[in-house]
Amino acid sequence: MTKPNDKQAGLEDDMGPDRRSVLKAGAGVVAASLLTSNSAAVAEAPAGAGPYGTKAYGASSATEPLKAIQIERRAIGPNDVLLDILYCGVCHSDIHTVRGEWGPAHYPCVPGHEIIGRVRAIGPQVTKFKVGDIGGVGCMVNSCRTCEHCQEDLEQYCLNGATFTYDTPDPPSKAGFTQGGYSDRIVVTEHFVIRIPPSVNLAATAPLLCAGITTFSPIQYWKLGRGQKVGIIGLGGLGHVAVKLAAAHNAHVTVFTTSPGKLADAKRLGASEAVLSTDANAMKQLASQFDLLISTVPEAYPMEPFTELLKLDGTLVNVGAMAPLENINGLKLALGRRAIAGSIIGGIAEAQEVIDFCTARNITADIEMIQPAELNKAFDRVVNKDVRYRFVIDMGAKA
Ligand code: NAP
Ligand code: ZN
Ligand code: ZN
Repeated sequence: MTKPNDKQAGLEDDMGPDRRSVLKAGAGVVAASLLTSNSAAVAEAPAGAGPYGTKAYGASSATEPLKAIQIERRAIGPNDVLLDILYCGVCHSDIHTVRGEWGPAHYPCVPGHEIIGRVRAIGPQVTKFKVGDIGGVGCMVNSCRTCEHCQEDLEQYCLNGATFTYDTPDPPSKAGFTQGGYSDRIVVTEHFVIRIPPSVNLAATAPLLCAGITTFSPIQYWKLGRGQKVGIIGLGGLGHVAVKLAAAHNAHVTVFTTSPGKLADAKRLGASEAVLSTDANAMKQLASQFDLLISTVPEAYPMEPFTELLKLDGTLVNVGAMAPLENINGLKLALGRRAIAGSIIGGIAEAQEVIDFCTARNITADIEMIQPAELNKAFDRVVNKDVRYRFVIDMGAKA
């Protein structure tokens, strides 16, 4: 079946020899094996042509709700992979961005950086994927690949600026800025596409591409290990995955929440204890005990009561609030040689590592599946701390 947007992009005609030549030889084998079960998907695979008209869900200003719009994906280049998007998680960063909370965004703005899709076509130099494979795209779609940090698999800290999956300058694209995964399909250079085993729960794996890597990376960097005490501040999308990952590292996990209704869930998710952070007495009893605290709170808040929970040389890693931090007392830090640090997502090799780590241990996110039409309601529920624990959009269910 040819989709209306394929027609707009001129894809409805026969696949000519030029287009065919862009498909890898090996892809034909996969395509043939898929023919029995999914011949329509294979027959309409666009190869080498483009750009591709794509249905997406985006905002036209900071105050407008998301609505269905049409965007354009670039033609498949030699190293590119075209994914039909199956699922996309809803991260609080999507909301910060489209609502202009991190500064003015570029509109129309299509968010989404927890993307799982099926490979529909590949460029001639692609070696990592073949047609029919499952690929994941997280928060980055490009970087310079040559600077010192890129060379060390730390593309997120690219000295020339990583290209994030949405709202980042992208001169070759028609929009001039990247547009994310709340859409039908995406074209991404293969290095930035993560291999996803087809056997996993794909929808519940999508959040690992941001919430997972963002919390896995500090757990690895600060070498959280058996018996160490870690506190997870905020039990939302990032926080609930952090609990699972920290428990899988055999750490003693404490959740700090502002929501009494989440205390029982914290333990179900793997925490040894759960504390209401508004309970000053409970907080006092935990003073000077923690090796590591990971803060996922989306806005600045008084951090001092938490810094006092760190033991000698303990570190509070802020992955939440991307804003000036409040109320940090230098004396309290100095007295325990305590540190406050920040961390942004993780590199591509580490993103593959978290997928492999979670696949081996059967770790996925707890999700609420939604249709695109429910996105605006979902945004409000995230802001109201009411998601259990990640919304994932079923992109395949769109009209
Ligand atoms: P989320 O699902 O909304 O979870 C955040 C949780 O923090 C809430 O569920 C709530 O948990 C708690 N919280 C919310 N507002 C609070 C407040 N004013 N004071 C105290 N606690 C509050 O958000 P998310 O998707 O996990 O993202 C969390 C933050 O991380 C966002 O700001 C996002 O932009 C950022 N982020 C950063 C990176 C990075 O690379 N550094 C990557 C992804 C996301 P309780 O109900 O348990 O209190
Ligand atoms: Zn995110
Ligand atoms: Zn670089």
